[in-house]
Amino acid sequence: MTIDDALNTIHRPWVSRNTLTLAQGEELRKNFEELLEQFFDRIAQSVHSGNPANMDDLLREWVMARTQSDLEAHRTSLPSILNHMHLVTYQVARENLPGPGALALLEALMPVFSHCFEYAAHLEIEENIRHISRQLEHANKNLQRLDKSKSDFIAIAAHELKTPLTLIEGYSSMIRDSSQLGSDRNNIEVLLNGIENGANRLRHIIDDMIDVSLIDNNLLSLNFQPLWLNRLFFVLRDEFIDVIEDRSMRLEVVDFPGCDEMTFGDNERLYQAFRNLFSNAIKFTPDGGKITVDGRKLPGFFEITLSDTGIGIDPRDHSVIFEKFGRVGNTSLHSSGKTKFKGGGPGLGLSITRGIIEAHGGSIWVESSGYNEMMCPGSTFHVLLPIRSTPHDPKLAKLFALDVDQSTAPPSESAEA
Ligand code: ADP
Repeated sequence: MTIDDALNTIHRPWVSRNTLTLAQGEELRKNFEELLEQFFDRIAQSVHSGNPANMDDLLREWVMARTQSDLEAHRTSLPSILNHMHLVTYQVARENLPGPGALALLEALMPVFSHCFEYAAHLEIEENIRHISRQLEHANKNLQRLDKSKSDFIAIAAHELKTPLTLIEGYSSMIRDSSQLGSDRNNIEVLLNGIENGANRLRHIIDDMIDVSLIDNNLLSLNFQPLWLNRLFFVLRDEFIDVIEDRSMRLEVVDFPGCDEMTFGDNERLYQAFRNLFSNAIKFTPDGGKITVDGRKLPGFFEITLSDTGIGIDPRDHSVIFEKFGRVGNTSLHSSGKTKFKGGGPGLGLSITRGIIEAHGGSIWVESSGYNEMMCPGSTFHVLLPIRSTPHDPKLAKLFALDVDQSTAPPSESAEA
């Protein structure tokens, strides 16, 4: 029996046994069968030519076909597949060929398989090194970005803290001077207000820093209470109404279906989260622009949208802005201010907002076609907030069980400021 005859005899059983044992599922088997046919042809060519390097390009193709997730999970290692095929070769030769024929075939295949093992191991090591280098490069880029955002933060925080501090120092020395000059009480009152404003700003920045660290360390605790979204937005509208008028803007709070239904959430924290979105919408929209709060009720969730007609956000920054210190653009153009056009902050607001929304089991994202101060394409922030019919705390649930029938608030007004 020639080697060719022996190869022809084991061809079919070799392909079908390998297909059955290596591939699961109809579709995968069909694809795999084709690959095995190619592999078997190459084995035959290598035996004929006496050159096992005939296998190389096929092996290279197989190693390259491994996906990123295969690499991460260390799946489908080629040497182990080759090992399996080698074993099947031995089994089908023994079952289908007479003893001397099987021995002669295995002897002829030995150099081909050992070359395949060696070459596949070499290729996989190369590919794994490339994969690890890519991961290192990625980690390195992240570290560089973190480093940059930390130094940006130091610059911004220093500026943010220094401004109110300078105010406090200035007003204090004016009080000292005016008391020496015997200034009247009204004058002193004005100066004291200045000190109070500076202290408030300092407190606000420090509170934001504390919140970020609570969120980072998963220590943000929520106090679930009954809550009505329409009431929350009306209180916010009242807070910002003067600024909106000063900047000749319009604010529309749409009375969307479900906004008057009771849900449970942390009123104070959600107020803080939406307040950040309101204040950003005002800051990044030029005078005369419009801000719209709308929403809809989805199964199990409220989706709230806050749209503005402002300068917009580059799609590349859509996730960066939710990271802490994630101010985008040029930090040297930074100017403090909660509602001034383009007035910046330390870049903590959206990361706190996201932390609060996520702590409620919700999510937040932004849509904007791009950043353009001339065209003002605007931005829309979407918030998904789970609808909760009971608070976490069973005692509170019992307390509010009495009121469950009245779970809707009084009729709400649709408002445009
Ligand atoms: P900041 O303290 O700078 O306001 P935030 O975390 O609230 O920090 O926002 C991060 C950055 O996201 C802002 O500096 C701004 O560049 C961008 N941004 C947030 N909201 C808007 C918006 N409505 N329109 C345009 N840009 C926005």
